[in-house]
Amino acid sequence: MSQTFDLIVIGAGPGGYIAAIRAAQLGMKVGCVEQWRNPRGEAALGGTCLNVGCIPSKALLASSEMFESMQHDAADHGISVKGASVDVAKMMSRKDGIVGKMTKGIEFLFRKNKITWLKGHGRLTGTRDGRFLVEVSGEGDAVSCDAAQVILATGSKARHLPSIPVDNQLICDNEGALAIGEVPKRLGVIGAGVIGLELGSVWRRLGSEVTILEALPEFLAAADEAVRKEAWKQFTKQGLAIHLGARIGEVTRSGKGLSIAWTDSAGAAQTLECDRLIVSVGRVPNTDGLGLDAVGLATDARGFIPVDEGCRTAVPGIWAVGDVVRGPMLAHKAEDEGVMVAELIAGQKPHIDYNCIPWVIYTSPEIAWVGQTEQQLKAAGRSFKSGQFPFAANGRALGTGASAGFVRVLACDTTDEVLGVHIVASNASDLIAEAVLAMEFKASAEDIGRICHPHPSLSEVMREAALAATDNRALNG
Ligand code: FAD
Ligand code: AMP
Repeated sequence: MSQTFDLIVIGAGPGGYIAAIRAAQLGMKVGCVEQWRNPRGEAALGGTCLNVGCIPSKALLASSEMFESMQHDAADHGISVKGASVDVAKMMSRKDGIVGKMTKGIEFLFRKNKITWLKGHGRLTGTRDGRFLVEVSGEGDAVSCDAAQVILATGSKARHLPSIPVDNQLICDNEGALAIGEVPKRLGVIGAGVIGLELGSVWRRLGSEVTILEALPEFLAAADEAVRKEAWKQFTKQGLAIHLGARIGEVTRSGKGLSIAWTDSAGAAQTLECDRLIVSVGRVPNTDGLGLDAVGLATDARGFIPVDEGCRTAVPGIWAVGDVVRGPMLAHKAEDEGVMVAELIAGQKPHIDYNCIPWVIYTSPEIAWVGQTEQQLKAAGRSFKSGQFPFAANGRALGTGASAGFVRVLACDTTDEVLGVHIVASNASDLIAEAVLAMEFKASAEDIGRICHPHPSLSEVMREAALAATDNRALNG
């Protein structure tokens, strides 16, 4: 049986499901193809983010942070916690419950917005009468659908290293690393990027000895210089052993664990023995079996679907958003692109300022930034001034016991316009939203400094850093 839509979205991660909802709000008849199956074999919406990404990782980060605080911080508050222990199975089932609630929530939103969930694998098969044909297979007989517009939102999958076969038992990518059944005594992590640091932190807090091997000679190269230094100091103090400039050699099974041969930055041969290994060396766009060639599309050399700033592909009427296109692999970037494309299809004139997309790493302390780093400004030859303020001088941070880190504001030397804001702090993911708003509205550092901020709150540090960037006018430092 053939089904006809105004719009077919392939993929129901944050890029696809949000595009589908916004298009339905704008009056379109929408079908959304999604092939995901959860570990119980049930079809599920939400993509990487909800099933094996943002949401489950943040649930485990919260559980592990609570465990660590009970052991190390509670005593400072005069609270003694004796015999705290971890029930990993319970922790995992809490996480699975949150994932289930969220994915069911999207099913509800689809019903509310009258979006048809086409369960199975979507493949472009060509055009007929100027409409795009999409075949959906995998659930009984293949169904053929057609639409005037198609959004490709097929996301990404973990990049694996050819010589290290992931089985999601001993050697895990993000999927296995979010479902480890017991705390490994020694955990190896390949890749000190966002996912490696977050998942490494989870298991370290739960008691693993964590060793991270990173190929690049620099730590968190994309982050601002000051942030990188502070993060390195904090993470190594916490006990994460991070080796930069590491070259990975052979990985062999040894007893119940693994032996990883690697070469350090000085060229010396090293061996890492561990009980589990997480491979977190980035993600690759997912276009498997998508039928791009049937409509005359092709990926670029890195596997991404080429698009312009409005997420238009080379074929008018076919759009692509999220991890499958250029730009940071972040859920909120995918969502914003989904909204933008739905509105463009509806004839509106939305726009994304990619310079205002915040980056977040949910370690403790968290790291978040928006706009330009000091290195980027210097490379562009832009003259700027900076203001930095520490959480150690903030009453609320001292009260909560989370006084590590700072806010750093970079502003134009001549106009005072905010060019970048960089935060290392326990609540950096929430604090950065103010900086994003400021930059979207082209605020000056003095604007932020003149806005009333609640006291006592962590947000006062943003104000003080902005004041520090404005002729060194911080009031409490
Ligand atoms: P995806 O979420 O990957 O969704 C794509 C969907 O398309 C999938 O459900 C897939 O099954 C489906 N699909 C693919 N091909 C087909 C086909 N042919 N037919 C039918 N369906 C298909 N980002 C953040 O912003 N914050 C975070 O804290 C964060 N944490 C993360 C933690 C981890 C461990 C990981 C792995 C990622 C994390 N990310 C985070 C990144 C975030 O998950 C992605 O950027 C986001 O999911 C991208 O959304 P998307 O819609 O482009 O793709
Ligand atoms: P992210 O893209 O944030 O998930 O980060 C992936 C990290 O893995 C980056 O810091 C990469 O430099 C690192 N990486 C990629 N390939 C290798 C490799 N072969 N060995 C060690 N680290 C790697």
